[in-house]
Amino acid sequence: MTAMPAPSSDSFKGWASDTGAEGFARLDAETFPAFEPGTVWLVGAGPGAPGLMSLLAYHAMQVCDVVVYDALVNADILRWVRPGAELEYAGKRGGKPSPQQRDITLRLIELAQSGKRVLRLKGGDPFMFGRGGEESQNLANAGITFRIVPGITSGVGGLAYAGVPATHRDLNHSVTFLTGHDASGTMPASVDWTAVAKASPVIVMYMAVKNVAEIAGALIAGGRSADDTITFISNATLPHQTVMETTLGAIETFLKTNQPQTPAIVVVGKVEGWRQILDWYDATQRENPIG
Ligand code: SAH
Repeated sequence: MTAMPAPSSDSFKGWASDTGAEGFARLDAETFPAFEPGTVWLVGAGPGAPGLMSLLAYHAMQVCDVVVYDALVNADILRWVRPGAELEYAGKRGGKPSPQQRDITLRLIELAQSGKRVLRLKGGDPFMFGRGGEESQNLANAGITFRIVPGITSGVGGLAYAGVPATHRDLNHSVTFLTGHDASGTMPASVDWTAVAKASPVIVMYMAVKNVAEIAGALIAGGRSADDTITFISNATLPHQTVMETTLGAIETFLKTNQPQTPAIVVVGKVEGWRQILDWYDATQRENPIG
C-alpha cells in the first residue's frame, strides 16, 4: 500500500490544528455547520455509550438552546449538553401515558418558531425505528428548517459490543432489520416472515422481546432451522449490558426461566461461534462509562 499524504489545512478546514492545539481542542466549533436559531436538528445519540455519539451530535449539544429527548437516551449523555440549555422529556414517565407523536411534533414546531435552536435527541439513529421520518416530514410541512444527524443504531452498535458481526464474508451476505412490534403491540402482520426466514441469514430485530416466541414460530414455519441461535443483547453498549442465547426451537422453554431485560436487540442467525471468539466487552472494558 502507498502511504497517503496527510491532508493540508488548506484542503480541510475542520481543524484548528494551525493554532498548535492538541486532542479535542483541535476541533474548531466555528467550522461546524451553523445551528441557526429557529431550526431543528434531529440527532441520533447512538445506542447508549456516550462515546458512540457523532461529532455533529456533540457539537449540537454545545450550541443548542433546548433538547427534547426520548426515554432511550442515556441520562449520562444528557450531562454532555451545555449548561444552560433546557432539557425537555418527550417520553413516558411515572406511569403517565406518553405524549402523542402529534404533540411532540407540535412542541418542536412551537420551540423553533419561538426562535430557539432545537435539538431533538433520539436513541440510536433517528430514521431507524425512531419516528424521525414522521417528525421531519411534519417539520418540512410547517416550513421549519431542519437537519438530520444520523446515529449508530442499536442494531449495529449493540452487535459490535456483543461480538456479533452483522455480516461475515464467509457466512452471510445479507442482513435484515425489522421491528417485532406493530402499532398495536402485536407481531407485525405486514412482515413476510417466510420471505425473511429464507432470504436473510441474519435477522436483527428491534422491539421484539414481547413477541419473540411467536416470531420464532413464524420463522420456523417459514423454513428456518430450529437450531438457529437467538441472541438477546440487552442494554447494549452500557456497562450493564447482558447477552443471552438460545435457539429458535427452544425459545418457549428458555422464556420459562429467563427474562431478557429491555431494551434489547434480538438477533437470529448462526452467530454463536463468532461470539465465543469476539466477545471483547469484558469486565475491564465496562469500567469506562464512556464506551
Ligand atoms: N432509533 C433506535 C431504535 C428505537 S426503537 C435505534 O436506532 O437504535 C426501540 C428499540 O430499540 C428497543 O425496543 C430495542 O429493541 C432497541 N434498543 C434501543 N437502545 C437499545 C440498547 N441500548 N440496547 C438494546 N436495544 C436497544
